[in-house]
Amino acid sequence: SAQLSNRVQQIKPSPTLAITSKAAELRAEGKDIIGLGAGEPDFDTPKHIKDAAVAALDAGQTKYTAVDGTPELKDAIIAKFKRDNGLEYERNQILVSCGGKQSFFNLALALLNPGDEVIIPAPYWVSYPDMVKIAEGKPVILESSAESQFKVTPEQIRNAMTDRTRLVVLNSPSNPSGKAYSIEELAEIGKVLEERPDVMIATDDMYEHILWNGTFANIVNATPSLKDRTFVLNGVSKAYSMTGWRIGYAAGPADVIAAMKKIQSQSTSNPASISQAAATAALNGPQECVTEMLHAFKERHDYVVEALNKLPGVTCQPSDGTFYAFPGFQGAIEATEGVNDDVEMAEHLLSEAGVALVPGSAFGTPGHMRLSFATSMDNLKNAIDRLSKAL
Ligand code: PLP
Repeated sequence: SAQLSNRVQQIKPSPTLAITSKAAELRAEGKDIIGLGAGEPDFDTPKHIKDAAVAALDAGQTKYTAVDGTPELKDAIIAKFKRDNGLEYERNQILVSCGGKQSFFNLALALLNPGDEVIIPAPYWVSYPDMVKIAEGKPVILESSAESQFKVTPEQIRNAMTDRTRLVVLNSPSNPSGKAYSIEELAEIGKVLEERPDVMIATDDMYEHILWNGTFANIVNATPSLKDRTFVLNGVSKAYSMTGWRIGYAAGPADVIAAMKKIQSQSTSNPASISQAAATAALNGPQECVTEMLHAFKERHDYVVEALNKLPGVTCQPSDGTFYAFPGFQGAIEATEGVNDDVEMAEHLLSEAGVALVPGSAFGTPGHMRLSFATSMDNLKNAIDRLSKAL
């Protein structure tokens, strides 16, 4: 067999995609599986956004665009930052990429030298540590627990910083915990980050609009002095149910954005021209679609959290936003014969109950499960019934 690079041997395939494909496999064998593993809204992309894509196609917008995005989309992003976040950027501070995933990937490759450390609070989005490893950086994971609302403290961040620390990653509202930091909590973290002017910050605001408890704020809102070394990462995937269109974007200091653009110019070039036209319509157009989806997620959230708390050995805190619940399963794991940890519990629930959940250890927080409630209420009720029987 072929000799593979050390780089690729150090990383693992995305575990959320893995559980989704395992569920699809069982389904293909004729098993009735309810998939609560996927990280995407179940709604169709709103019609006015699809119409804009069709119009772009008809108008012949089918060629390469500027690597960093069309001027129309960059201006829509600049207007969005001003409108929603009170943040001002110039065009050369914006890079549009093929999904939020590529935004972070570009950032890691542009910033990190071998051995540079990246502080990542757990539970984390599964892709951060592996993307850091691809860039030959070193993920430094901070633990959290249900007791701390799955948030890390400023002291934890201070204690984790070394001479090699290059980047601190924040994600609020969080995939998978659903928890969001308040602006006051961020300001406390901001004080610690102010002590280290050489450290860069990434705030992943992908779930900004899927928030029902509290008001959205990021670290730059809390501590404006950090703006010239913070990268704000966002995208249209979750807010507008546009995961398949692959549009994400980054805003930050022009020199690093230019370096990220150079990397993108030698990998994917521009994101798809049609998708950029659709994303422009999403950001500039009416925002009611976002609110409608938010209401549906909140209703499902309330049902799921209450129902999970009634399951034996399961405890679940309410989420502040996102479409995830992150229940603790430790009691259920201990009570189930032949099941020793969350990974085995996920396998058990997939085979015994036909319900696909992602084990918390995939996110760096064992003993828990991530349940995505981006599916119909009927599916959720059915899934809870099955979990209840299996436990
Ligand atoms: N950031 C977070 C926290 C996410 O959960 C995701 C998707 O799962 C992304 C970024 C990337 O989204 P995409 O690449 O689909 O735009």
